[in-house]
Amino acid sequence: MKNIVIFGAPGSGKGTQSDMLVQKYGFQHISTGDVLRQAIKEGSELGLTAQSYISDGKLIPDSLMIDILASTYDALDTSVGVIFDGFPRTIAQAEALEKMLAERGSRVDAMLELDVPTEMLMERLIQRGKTSGRADDNEETIKKRLDVYGQQTAPLIEWYTSAGLRHKVQGYGSLEEINASLSAIIDSL
Ligand code: AMP
Repeated sequence: MKNIVIFGAPGSGKGTQSDMLVQKYGFQHISTGDVLRQAIKEGSELGLTAQSYISDGKLIPDSLMIDILASTYDALDTSVGVIFDGFPRTIAQAEALEKMLAERGSRVDAMLELDVPTEMLMERLIQRGKTSGRADDNEETIKKRLDVYGQQTAPLIEWYTSAGLRHKVQGYGSLEEINASLSAIIDSL
């Protein structure tokens, strides 16, 4: 069983690559962004709370996200493995993930970082906004999300490097090439 954190800025291709890895390996996929968007669609209490943060390009508070992560994880059959997509986004979340997995006799096996230049991220997200219907895929919010990424999430690169878990992959080129790079790392774990 493998626990894999897929990491990268907004627009780096985490969701697309996660889907491909799910197809290939049969992993479960936890996308905290998807969980929140589903809650918004359902109009649940969580959805109401999440809405303003998301459309503002800000992160949902750690304590709430950590609870959501644990309940999502516990509802899954994790025997093959899990891909964490969009979580952790802060050091506090990374520490909470480590603790949650340790309590369940497990751990993060690898952090796979999709490295994409900022100009390319902007371009991709603006393109995606034309069809995604996502409230946060507009130029103003994209800029905020990239700032938040730089300030709150990018420090995790150092954190996972220190933990000896970080693997950096070029996040542009064909989807198949990127997927082959990720798969090679997973196969070596
Ligand atoms: P994503 O689909 O991963 O780009 O997430 C979309 C939005 O959901 C983010 O911009 C945040 O507002 C919120 N979100 C998703 N995951 C997290 C997380 N782990 N911590 C805080 N906020 C999150």
